[in-house]
Amino acid sequence: MTAFSIIQKKQRGQANSAEEIRFMVQGALAERVEPAQLSAWFMAIYFQGMNPEETWTLTREMLESGRVLQRGELSGLRVDKHSTGGVGDKVTFVLAPVWAACGLQVPTITGRGLGLTGGTVDKLECLPGIELGLEQEAMQKVLAETGLCILRQTQDLVPADRIFYALRDVTATVESVPLICASILSKKLAEDLDQLVLDVKCGSGAIFATEEQAAELAEALVAITAAGGRKACALLSDMDTPLGRQVGNWNELVESAECLQGHGPADLMEVVYALGAAGLLAAGRCASLEEAIRLQQEVIHSGKAFEALLKALELQGGNTERLRFPHRAPRPTRGLTVTHAQGGTVLAVDARAIGQAALLLGAGRQRREDAIDALAGLSLHRKPGESLRPGEALADVYCSTPEGRLEEAAALVREAYTLGAEEDFRPRPMLLRAIGAPFDPDEWRRVYRNVGDGLKPHPLWRP
Ligand code: URA
Repeated sequence: MTAFSIIQKKQRGQANSAEEIRFMVQGALAERVEPAQLSAWFMAIYFQGMNPEETWTLTREMLESGRVLQRGELSGLRVDKHSTGGVGDKVTFVLAPVWAACGLQVPTITGRGLGLTGGTVDKLECLPGIELGLEQEAMQKVLAETGLCILRQTQDLVPADRIFYALRDVTATVESVPLICASILSKKLAEDLDQLVLDVKCGSGAIFATEEQAAELAEALVAITAAGGRKACALLSDMDTPLGRQVGNWNELVESAECLQGHGPADLMEVVYALGAAGLLAAGRCASLEEAIRLQQEVIHSGKAFEALLKALELQGGNTERLRFPHRAPRPTRGLTVTHAQGGTVLAVDARAIGQAALLLGAGRQRREDAIDALAGLSLHRKPGESLRPGEALADVYCSTPEGRLEEAAALVREAYTLGAEEDFRPRPMLLRAIGAPFDPDEWRRVYRNVGDGLKPHPLWRP
């Protein structure tokens, strides 16, 4: 068996055997298979795909390339969510403590941002002292005391994905369903979960722009998790518009703290509550959608969820003073306000353009080794459906390094906004589809409208 013959087989559209897939994964780890050969194999997979059996084998081989988070003495239901990534997506910071406060265990392995997609690790590293690379024993302690522990991928957790993702990123092979499935699920299965809830984003700021492609990915993720003997469900959520009002790192962490204090933006809270309800129902912790929404509201409004997050971060060495009192934290040193001369109603805010503006400001990285400016980012003063008068602000853009390209970012933000007449505004649902989930989007909207605290129908909304 050679890497050459394995690549050639896939190039011709044939399935790779389990031995061949193992050969490539083991060869990558031992540096027997060259990066050029791996890249060629990924490109062949990109064009020819993989059947479910191959995809599961690749996932398993990648998972077994590292250690699994052991349960040890801890009993209780283990749940986590994974998002395929989007602009302003800070759901983990809100949902993990909400679930923990509802009595679930949430060990979550998170990543750094790349391209348009922000990273949970980068956002958390805005807190001085935070340690995300915990060993097993320390992780167990945080989990036992708080119900959650946010970790980063370390050398011994799915090392094959670190090698593969870096190559895919520079060879235009990220957008492949089997490769995405294996990458995401090898990390999530390493958490030894009872239930995984997937947030598959769809729109201009997501990996896949169309609902069909996103649904294909969601179906594959749910099926491959089942092949691994675990349970998963997926919700397709909108990523044509940035989630929430803050895009960056530190400002997103502050917005998450606001959500946990009951002041979250409506779109973000709807996604949190929907994913949260899917997890609570699937794990058997709640019997109805209404109960699941109310339980989440209760742990937010009582402060239990915010306390769980603060305690976990403190046990992980983080100084949470800044999060408790954000007005005392360092501020960006440079900034611009983007105004609109004519005013009108915001019809759309293009997530992709906003993500690109955040990159220009220094909030994200183009390459893995790039440094980021933790204070750089944007605040969106207007979201779709909201109106503004001539000369009022659409958004602020800011940074704290001389490299931040304020003017260019401001121009992109202006282009990202489409304004028009109020009657032309068409509200879009946040939840588009559910796959393997214990409710469907129509049922969700009906129940959430009655008991949710964020779904305020627009005056023109005709469901
Ligand atoms: N997120 C991952 O972890 N891997 C992918 O391949 C895509 C998104």
